[in-house]
Amino acid sequence: MGNYYQPEIECASRETIKALQDERLVAQIKHVYANVPYYRNLMDEKGVKPEDISSTDDLHKLPFISKNDLRDAYPYGMLAVPKSETVRIHSTSGTTGKRVAAFYTQHDIDLWYDCCARAIMAVGGTKDDVVQVCYGYGLFTGGAGLDGGSHRVGCLTLPMSSGNTERQIQFMLDFQSTIICCTPSYAAYIAETLKEMGYTADDLHLKAGIFGAEPWTQEMRRDIEKSLGIKAHDIYGLTEISGPGVSFECEDQSGMHINEDHFIAEIINPETGEVLPEGEVGELVFTCITKEAFPMIRYRTRDICRLSREKCSCGRTLIKMAKPMGRSDDMLIIRGVNVFPSQIETVLLEQGYTPNYQIVVDRVNNTDTLDINVELTVELFSDKVKDISAKEKELAAAIKVMLGINPKVHIVAPKSITRSEGKAVRVVDKRKLY
Ligand code: ADP
Ligand code: ZN
Repeated sequence: MGNYYQPEIECASRETIKALQDERLVAQIKHVYANVPYYRNLMDEKGVKPEDISSTDDLHKLPFISKNDLRDAYPYGMLAVPKSETVRIHSTSGTTGKRVAAFYTQHDIDLWYDCCARAIMAVGGTKDDVVQVCYGYGLFTGGAGLDGGSHRVGCLTLPMSSGNTERQIQFMLDFQSTIICCTPSYAAYIAETLKEMGYTADDLHLKAGIFGAEPWTQEMRRDIEKSLGIKAHDIYGLTEISGPGVSFECEDQSGMHINEDHFIAEIINPETGEVLPEGEVGELVFTCITKEAFPMIRYRTRDICRLSREKCSCGRTLIKMAKPMGRSDDMLIIRGVNVFPSQIETVLLEQGYTPNYQIVVDRVNNTDTLDINVELTVELFSDKVKDISAKEKELAAAIKVMLGINPKVHIVAPKSITRSEGKAVRVVDKRKLY
């Protein structure tokens, strides 16, 4: 028997979940049509009425919502309940432009915390655990979500927020934290600081980490697992849909189970909007079927990934999404070639470098340039056989194999690339300035 928070849902049959989704979708569309003029207009323009939606099979008839709609409707235009019914605002990190705000009723908050509790129990969490939450608290959803989930499970919760890394480690040692929650880039930074303070993973009591809010590679997972002596689990979410816990990884570590009793996932072709069959790669779209205050219908996340209903060893039946490769707007087009920063990260870590890197794209004489700055590590420094420029060439060649285009690699001094305490900034695209 696995460690589940709500086994009746997490392990329910496909038929049970589908019936629940059908019923909730129908009610949700009525709610939104009646209470959100912005979305009612979108439905009217498309010629769809609430009566046309009788099950999830009709989902495709509904119009999409995009981040631009949220910016248009900012601040209160998407609110589906009277303001007096809402109790909380969170806002996106603004990674890709103007921030958008999302609203919650108390019921919305309760369900969101349940989702995060599922994520904590999926990594083996129980009331005996000490959960150190080092996601940022405040407008960002990371801190609040995992904090709420940890309370639901009954864990002893350390609401650290991000930053002050030496204190993080001191508390981790003093209170014998067993589960850590933060961005993967911050986990890597914590591991680096731990070593600098003269400790090893053996000094810690950590058993698992719940890392998300940004893309990260399997290579990064292995590095973090080794340096902190834990199992590292992915968690996914976005403010518009609720926050972390939209999906979460179990002990199988093979993708994230989507909380399908609250969110219906679709994969679409980002160009045409057409729904793609299960297993194909495309843009992830979510419909919130239980949210009251800010119910997004067919919200286009711009995250690129794949869904799978393959049986999972953990016993959960909830559909799984693969690790997102990045957002469609993270994808760089360099000399006509599609490049995801995560592909570069894979090569760097495979070659023994750390996740301290930065990608700089520019345009010189009408040609795109790709420069990659990566830090020299102590281990590579002691390898006297090759000089730095030979290493740069070797790395550039490995990246060329992965991407098909030639980058310029610069090996820079250790510690010269800014560390991240939240979402790492991996790319500087100077072309956008023109
Ligand atoms: P912003 O869009 O400003 O970054 P959020 O803080 O709401 O606002 O971040 C949500 C986004 O973060 C998601 O749409 C996705 O791109 C990214 N994200 C969240 N979790 C993960 C994860 N586990 N893997 C990859 N990307 C993630
Ligand atoms: Zn599973």
